[in-house]
This record gives sequence, C-alpha cells and structure tokens, in this order.
Amino acid sequence: MKSSAKQQKDFRPRDGKQPETKLTVGQQMTLTIKSLGINGEGIGYFKRKIVFVDKALPGEVIHAQVTEVKEKYATARLLKVVEKSPARTKAPCPVYEECGGCSLQHMDYKAQLASKQELVLESLRKYARLETPPVAPTIGMDNPWGYRNKAQFQVGKRDGKLVAGLYQTGTHQLVDLETCQVQHEATTAIVRTAKQVIQELGIPVYEERKRTGVIRTVVARVAFATGETQLTLVTATNEIPRVKELVMELRSRLPELVSIVQNVNAQKTSVIFGDTTRELWGRPYIAEKLGELSFDLSARAFFQLNPEQTHKLYDEVKKAAGLTGSELLLDLYCGTGTISLWLAPFAREVRGIELIPEAVEDARKNAERNQAANAQFHVGRAEVLMPKWAKQGVKPDVVVVDPPRTGLDDALIRSLLEVMPKKIVYVSCNPSTLAKDIGKLLAKYELKHVQPVDMFPHTAHVECVSLLKLK
Ligand code: SAH
Repeated sequence: MKSSAKQQKDFRPRDGKQPETKLTVGQQMTLTIKSLGINGEGIGYFKRKIVFVDKALPGEVIHAQVTEVKEKYATARLLKVVEKSPARTKAPCPVYEECGGCSLQHMDYKAQLASKQELVLESLRKYARLETPPVAPTIGMDNPWGYRNKAQFQVGKRDGKLVAGLYQTGTHQLVDLETCQVQHEATTAIVRTAKQVIQELGIPVYEERKRTGVIRTVVARVAFATGETQLTLVTATNEIPRVKELVMELRSRLPELVSIVQNVNAQKTSVIFGDTTRELWGRPYIAEKLGELSFDLSARAFFQLNPEQTHKLYDEVKKAAGLTGSELLLDLYCGTGTISLWLAPFAREVRGIELIPEAVEDARKNAERNQAANAQFHVGRAEVLMPKWAKQGVKPDVVVVDPPRTGLDDALIRSLLEVMPKKIVYVSCNPSTLAKDIGKLLAKYELKHVQPVDMFPHTAHVECVSLLKLK
C-alpha cells in the first residue's frame, strides 16, 4: 500500500489551531505514538504538529528522524523503538521492509482487528458527530494468510535477471516476489514458473522508458472453491515470440492450469489491462463458487480478492437487509452483481446499477447462470438512475450501496433522503467517506449497526457493513 500522508491532512489538533513549532528535515525526536492512521502508520504529535511514522505502533515511545515537513503534518522515519508495544511482532515476510503490499505485519493480528474497529469508531465520532457509534468488533480470519486469489505482478529486469512483483513503497523499484504470505500459494507458484519459462525462452520484457519489449504483467488467479487456475500474460505487443513453445512449457510445468490467456496493452499507462484478450490455450475463464453461487471468471472480470471474507461480508449485508421475500431491493454500485445474487433468493425483486457496461454484462450472465430470474442489471450512474426511477414511481424498500473510496455522490444522498427506503445498507471500504455520508443521512436515518470485516489482513484496509433505518 502506498503510504500517502497527504490523504490524512484532516488530522489536526482537536482545537483546530495551527501548530507553531518549526520542524526541519533530518531533525531527530522522541515521540509517543497515539494511534494508527488510515495507511497503517503510527501517529504522534510533536509540540502540536502531527507526525506520521511508518511501522510505529500506538502506545510506543520511539526515536524518529523527520523526512518531510508540510504545513499541516510531518513524516518521520522510525530509528528505534524505545518502549515497545505488546502488540509488536516480527513480520514473517522476508521482504516486508521493501515491499509496498502490506503495512501491518509488524502488529499482532488481534491488535490489527482492534485497531481497525477503533479507526471506524474514530471516523464516526469525528465526521458523523456520534458520541458512541455502534461499531462491532472486526470480523477477522482464523488463518489470516494465503487469502488472496489473484497475484498481479509487474515484470521487469534487474541485473539481467527477470523479476516479478510489486513496487517498493513510494518508488518505481520492483520488489521480486518469489513468495508472498498473503497470496494463495497456487498464484505465486504460477508466477514463479511463468517467470522461469519467459526467461529461458528469452522473451523480451517490456521496458517502460524505452517502450520496447513484450511482457508487462503476469496475472495468476485461482478459484478457491474449484481449485481451477488461470494465467494471463499482459503484453505490449500483439505477437509473442516463441509463443508455441511458451504455451507448451507452461502446460507441462503447470498441469493445474485450465486457462492461459493473453491481454494486449500497448498504451503508456499504469492501468494493467488493455482492451484485447485472446486465449492461448484452454478455456477463457475459470469456474468459481461462493456459497451457493457459481461464477465464470474471465481474465478481466472483477471478483472480490478474499473469497473467505467475502462470504462473511455478504452474510453481514444479508443480515442487515433483513429481507422477508416481499421487498424491492436496489443494489447500487453492483459490480458484477454478486451482492444482488446473494440477496435475490430472499427478496421479491433485485435491481442492480453499475457504471461499467462489461461488469453489467457479467452480472447478467451470472444471474442467468444462477437462475436468478428476479435480478435485473442496469448500466448507469447510481446518482442519475435512482432519482430517475424515483420520478417514475419506483419505491425501493431496501437500498444497498457499495461505492468506491470516494463515497456517495451528493445527488444520490439527496435522492435517498427523498425516496426514503426503510433501510439503507452501506458497504464501504473507506471509513472517512462512510462517516461523512452517514453524517448526512442522519437527517432522516438512525445508524443501527456498523460491522467491520477484515478483507485484507496485514494491510490497513477495512471494510464495513452499516445498517441505517428510517426514523
Ligand atoms: N458490489 C460489488 C463491488 C463494488 S465496487 C461487489 O461486491 O463485488 C464499486 C463499483 O462501483 C465498481 O464496479 C465501479 O465501477 C462502480 N461505480 C463507480 N461509480 C459509480 C456510479 N457513479 N454509479 C454506479 N456505479 C459506479
């Protein structure tokens, strides 16, 4: 995770006064860490100024050196832990210091869960002005490792050797990930072998600066329920040299693969996938199951990254929705329709709205595959379609929203306050925007319950299911 202190400029001293102290880069200080920030860094105050220190934990006293000074905050590098938190633990990952993927492996898992609950509580106190927000303890994993079903690793060259992994935090240096503790072992095994084969056959790696070469990204995905695996090679060119040998080698060394595909992305962009996908061998998709539902996942189709926790998350959504079978339910920001399909058997009718047409196509296919005749999907903006339907007399009983990190559009909040569904179930991946949006909805709604679910152990991410009931 990229640590972006700028996103946290809202952390001011509580009285709102500006700090007076001058800090300089290179200055050393002793700091007591008070809390964790949204990117997992420790937060301390040096004479009223907020200081973010990566890998420092609440309750610790540390020595740190200032690395950046801005008007409202500073960042510092941890030099030494003077008084250690009981939650401090040794990160099992061998490249934890370099890799930008995780940010909380140095914290005991139970403490991670507690700190995520605290983060949600703090956001609701601050932005929704609730004194005692009803936030339940975070639902964690029994075994919080090997949970990710997809490895999406950039490919590069270092000292003549092919490397694949993630970028080092705040840099453009690739960290070679031979293994990864949070990935399902099948995904890293596929990447390791693909890397070897590409290197042995001398297939050129894409070089961003020169814009030459072929292989950009290796994507390995595993279906947890069926064990099927897929390898996608994202290339800068249409042609892959020695492609026949490549496929033959991959098939013989990775007999568990059911799908090998190529995606072409010739653009100068940090977006991973391009528009063209073609099969190199086998099926274009892998079959996955979640609870009773089945999905065919093509290379670009969205699917939640942690299936075990997704099951728990969707069950929390179902519990919050409290359906009786007679309801019209709207699933806004529905993606490929998974929440709609999870709830369809328990409602009269489910209607999903999603911006991306391909996702809606997938949602329709998924509905058909799962024989959900009472689920329909529409392409559009939630904040446009929902008010339009309201004018036509559509009156939902329950509205589920699952927006991106930016939260709900103001027009949608206004529409919800006009349409007044009995229940709003808010699924959120960003406690700050969640709390701000809830603050506005409190005009007509009461916040009944917030359930954090840990979708990404060892990272600072926290997902929440909130139930709002019409007053
Ligand atoms: N509910 C889905 C995932 C939602 S992710 C699931 O559980 O799998 C958020 C989705 O909102 C993305 O698919 C994104 O394309 C979509 N989106 C973003 N802005 C939107 C808008 N204004 N209206 C509708 N959908 C939007």
